[in-house]
Amino acid sequence: MAGMLYLVPTPIGNLGDISERCRRTLEEADFIAAEDTRVSLKLLNHLGIKKSLVSYYEHNKAFKGEKIVERILAGETCALVSDAGSPAISDPGEDLVKLCHQVGITVCAIPGPCAVITGLSISGQATGRFCFEGFLSTSKKSRREHLESLVREQRTMIFYEAPHKLLTTLQDMAEHFGADRSISLCRELTKLHEEVILTTLGAAIEKYTENPPKGEFVLVVAGASAEEKPAATADDAAARVAQLMTEGLSRKDAIKQTAKELDLPKNVVYDAALQ
Ligand code: SAM
Repeated sequence: MAGMLYLVPTPIGNLGDISERCRRTLEEADFIAAEDTRVSLKLLNHLGIKKSLVSYYEHNKAFKGEKIVERILAGETCALVSDAGSPAISDPGEDLVKLCHQVGITVCAIPGPCAVITGLSISGQATGRFCFEGFLSTSKKSRREHLESLVREQRTMIFYEAPHKLLTTLQDMAEHFGADRSISLCRELTKLHEEVILTTLGAAIEKYTENPPKGEFVLVVAGASAEEKPAATADDAAARVAQLMTEGLSRKDAIKQTAKELDLPKNVVYDAALQ
């Protein structure tokens, strides 16, 4: 008989958040697949559990995923953990779950700590309707496309972000959503220095320009309000620049006028016109 895959959430900062069911599943599994075995070993030592660990992370997931599935099909039970939080949410666990479904392995997800839900619930933003957007890409083009697709989004939007990319992300968001848009910066959740700053994108940029951010962040951004005039997109800007140029304006003047008309930063219009 085939074994099973258990998705075991682990604390995102406070070791007290491991549940009894998670502890028991880790104890009873035949083996544990972990994103970073050194990180998970610390947790296992804390729980007093000795268990065989295999690594399963972004750069070995194709090969290791097959091996893990082979072991489960042969009858073993695997507990999957990520470095922190719920496996398969913005981490490689997503692929292992897909693979298991493809070959008919039963997957059991144990509820528990998850940064996105912890951030949303503490954020002070509207929680009735929300969308999780994960990490923005490091590629400038993909980031822009991603944010552009959200310009008219009315649901609360949740993002993950690393501290060294936070300022650029806030600047990109301000360009697309406007500097007045409300944001909750949820930092170091469940840890000693947990902090939630409910502010605007513009004020957050000022704050973190003066004091570089530290720690882990969940960003919870208010959706666009229904009455709000939708912000112009890069496509709108490119079209307006082209139109003004056919009317006889130089590229420079067309960019300047478009930026003014559409209330967009000149560099955004310039980049859009080049594309
Ligand atoms: N799968 C995990 C989950 O959903 O709970 C998240 C994995 S993702 C690779 C890591 C990101 O989650 C971090 O970059 C940060 O944005 C967020 N995160 C994790 N722990 C956090 C914490 N204690 N406080 C704030 N954000 C956290």
